[in-house]
Amino acid sequence: MRNQYDLIIVGGGIMAGSLAYNLLKDGYTGSIAIFEKDPTYEYSSTPRSEGGIRQTFSTEINIKMSQYSYQVYKNFENEMAIDGDLCHIDFHQHGYLYLLNATALPIFKEILKIQEALGVRADLMNQNETKFFFPELNVEDLAGSVFDPDAGNADPYSVLQGYIKKIKRMGVSFVYEEIDTILTEQQKVTGIKTKNGESYRAPIVVNAAGAWSGELSKKIGIEIPVKPLRRQLFSIDTTKKFQNTIPFTFDPTGLHFRGEGSKIVVGWAKDVPFGYDFKLEKSFFEEEIWPVLAERCSNFEQLKLERGWAGLYDYNPVDHNAIIGGHPLMKGYYIISGFSGHGFQHAPAAGKGLSELIRLGKFETIDLSPLSVERFATNKLVLETAVY
Ligand SMILES: Cc1cc2nc3c(=O)[nH]c(=O)nc-3n(C[C@H](O)[C@H](O)[C@H](O)COP(=O)(O)OP(=O)(O)OC[C@H]3O[C@@H](n4cnc5c(N)ncnc54)[C@H](O)[C@@H]3O)c2cc1C
Repeated sequence: MRNQYDLIIVGGGIMAGSLAYNLLKDGYTGSIAIFEKDPTYEYSSTPRSEGGIRQTFSTEINIKMSQYSYQVYKNFENEMAIDGDLCHIDFHQHGYLYLLNATALPIFKEILKIQEALGVRADLMNQNETKFFFPELNVEDLAGSVFDPDAGNADPYSVLQGYIKKIKRMGVSFVYEEIDTILTEQQKVTGIKTKNGESYRAPIVVNAAGAWSGELSKKIGIEIPVKPLRRQLFSIDTTKKFQNTIPFTFDPTGLHFRGEGSKIVVGWAKDVPFGYDFKLEKSFFEEEIWPVLAERCSNFEQLKLERGWAGLYDYNPVDHNAIIGGHPLMKGYYIISGFSGHGFQHAPAAGKGLSELIRLGKFETIDLSPLSVERFATNKLVLETAVY
């Protein structure tokens, strides 16, 4: 095995996949190695994601990243096909439905103006119109809703495997080793050292370690605001079935649910301490989630909790947005992390952008410079209100 590459990516999740794919597709000729500590991806965030894809953000940069990524996902099965075998990702567009109380309505009206100006097709609806999408819903307490018809979800594990198979075919090396630290000399990166003590040299190292990226960066004395934050999802079956497939529905409480085949997937961003914690709390579902569901719709009164899982957000507690770009104090060190719950849907745009920055020294497709790591020092934060 060689021990020198032109570019090393730490972490082999969706960000690494998208970055390597875009580099090679656009003509990068250097050698690329991806170091992934867990070949089964058991605790990686990508396969534990809900796979939601939407354009209804409040900042221009997130909307543009969503629009670019949406087009990629629409054509993903062809783009990642290998020898004529399509890469199926189960992409469904059942829409996103935001249920609004009187407090949220004026806020969403303002956000809709930004979205409309950028060509997002979301619309405001009154109580009765809301029931059109979801006849069983209790709308008594609602002032209206916003529906985004282009939104939906895809299977994150299939997307991850699609990228991995494709980039392996394109020549990327995968090394299934845990990286202990990044090696540096006089403010520039020189490679990485694995937990087994082996060193690999490279002039460019990309930190794509997701929820673990903050901890890795700290080892070379560079703090980036990325923390592991536990999120739980529950899969349920109701005795009384719904007429239509339920769109990705956001309750004013913050709880969300959506149809998946004959089941419903439910989640709620409960406040928990940061940490590498994968505990699933059934009592959280029974005591806090279920009463809200039953209040929203009588079909939820009788249900069976079938399974659930917890995963980690690569959470940026400062402004809840991605960090994409090179570090000004460490030549050759790049970061693609901090997506705070919208990394699955933004991975195609994030990988494309960072690949341009590495190859050309500038962004071409979307200007991702507002997401640079420098924004924390200059306090030019990207404040996204539409994150859940
Ligand atoms: C429950 C849940 C629901 C979500 N829902 C959505 C959603 O609906 N829509 C959306 O857009 N996003 C969603 N997300 C967010 C999205 O899943 C993440 O932002 C995205 O998957 C991050 O991708 P990644 O490649 O950075 O991280 P990962 O997939 O975690 O990949 C990072 C990899 O780095 C490896 N690694 C870490 N440290 C090292 C090391 N030292 N050496 C070697 N390897 C290392 C890890 O094993 C891991 O495989 C959700 C996340 C969770 C947890």
